[in-house]
Order: sequence, then C-alpha cells, then structure tokens
Amino acid sequence: MEYQQIINSIYNEVLLLENKGTVADYIPELEKVNSNKFGIALIDNHQNNYSIGDAKEKFSIQSISKVLTTAIIFSKIGNDLWQRVGFEPSGNAFNSLVQLEYENGIPRNPFINAGALVIADLMLSHFDNPKAYFLNFIRELAENEAIDYNETVAQSEKEHGFRNAALVNYIKSFHNITNAPEDVLDFYFYQCSIEMTCEDLAKVFQLFSHNGLIPKSKTKFLTTSQCKRMNALMQMCGFYDQAGEFTFKVGLPGKSGVGGGVVAIYPNHYTVAVWSPKLNKKGNSYYGLETLERLTTITEASIF
Ligand code: GLN
Repeated sequence: MEYQQIINSIYNEVLLLENKGTVADYIPELEKVNSNKFGIALIDNHQNNYSIGDAKEKFSIQSISKVLTTAIIFSKIGNDLWQRVGFEPSGNAFNSLVQLEYENGIPRNPFINAGALVIADLMLSHFDNPKAYFLNFIRELAENEAIDYNETVAQSEKEHGFRNAALVNYIKSFHNITNAPEDVLDFYFYQCSIEMTCEDLAKVFQLFSHNGLIPKSKTKFLTTSQCKRMNALMQMCGFYDQAGEFTFKVGLPGKSGVGGGVVAIYPNHYTVAVWSPKLNKKGNSYYGLETLERLTTITEASIF
C-alpha cells in the first residue's frame, strides 16, 4: 500500500475516536487554538511528500524545539555536552524539579525542561545571536523563509513561566547555568514559540532519518554516531513519563510538544508529523499517539 492511502485510512479511522484529550491551557494563546484541528504529513527518504487534513496549517511546536537546539549544540561541542546534561530517561513530568536536587543540578536529559534550559544556556554561550541562528537553521531545513517566532506566545510564556524560572535559578545554584537566568528564559520561550506546519516539521526532522545529513544541501550536520544518539534520546526521553508507552505502542524515536505536535522518525525510511491539539494527561497529543501507533502497525515496520 502507498503511504498516501495508509495515512488517509488512519486519518479517517482516528477521526471516529472520541478525542479524550484537553488543549493546553497554561497560556491563553494555546487555549485559543481550534481543538478539532488534525493533520498528518509524512516524507519518505526519497523526498516524496504525503499529507492529509490540517497538515499545511502552522502551530506552536513548543517542546519539539528542544530536539533542534540539542542537535545544534551536540554538533557544535560534541560529547562535552554530556558534562552539562545527562542521557537517561526521567520517568517524570516535563517540568519536574525533583531529580535536580540529588543529581547536583545536572538534568537527566535535554528534553525535560530542566535539560532544555541548560541547552538554551549553551546556545547563548556559543552564538552571538542565538535567536537569529536558530530561526535561520530551521528555515533552512524546512526550506521555508516564512517560519517565525510567535511574539505573543513567547511573551505569554514569560508572564506565566514561574516554574521554568524556578528551574533555571535552581540549576544556576549548582553552577550549571552560566548566563543570566532572564536571558536563558528569554531564549527558551522564543524557541518554544516557533510555529510551523506538519509538512515543515516532517521536512526539518529529515536530518534524523538521513543519519545526520541535510538532504537538500547534502551537508552532514551531525555525525552518524551523533544522529544515532539523538534518535536514542528521542526514543528514551521524547515523551517524558510516557516514553515507555510510546516505545511500546509506536516503536519509533519521536518528540511531542504541548501545542499538540508529535514528530517521529523511522531512520532511513521516513519522518512523520502529526498535529492535534488535545493532549492526554502526560501532555502528549491524544490523536497523535493513536495515529502513530496505527502507522507502525499497518506498515508492520518500526525500529523493533
Ligand atoms: N513552553 C512549554 C514549557 O516550557 C513547553 C512544554 C512542552 O511542550 N512540553 O512549559
């Protein structure tokens, strides 16, 4: 069966399910989103694009951005990265503080908020204008100059970001944040506010299905080993305390965001992005997970 037929039938089947999730409501901008939106985009490794539903509509990628900042820093400083952040699953909520105390301010992995804040700190230390660098990097991977930060979302995150502020200050008390906490938070809130479509997202993540190569420019951005490690991190930590369940049901590395986006990678085969804003209790898109479980079941192909 063709991928287009497969995603069409999954789309229709998932739409019949009662969507048990709820839209993120910690900032008004995310709460305002139409909760019925649902899109799927898949790009195979021969650059064929397949999509259905609201796959051409942009949304807030939120925590999915953490994979991209981590890839940038990993490519820049290599394995020195692991002195600042770990590579173990956390088994805790994305915004949890608890493990930091007994692990001396070294976050368990780069995809929980604590770890992403350390990566944001490294972005500030390694780039003169990290916001411009990050945006350009994404525009280049997506081949879409229209991708941008959403200022309103970023400002709103700032106004409500008390827990992230607590995290960054707490980590700084262990000397694992080198820049000013407000600058780190500013970059972090902007990186989370980036908006793009499922089609853009599937394209951007091709880097991870091509062993670190950017297909368009043929630039080897990550070494094959670094790419393997990025995919391993997504497998173990991409869904916080639901990473085990995602592995169990879907069997692909992936990453979610509270905007309702989910992206998954089948190395050497395809990337797939799903958007549906209603989230389950763990903060992951309900339809997103239902869609991806069906995809790997119907195609009888996952990394396992
Ligand atoms: N901006 C959100 C936060 O920091 C991102 C969380 C997420 O997508 N899981 O809380």
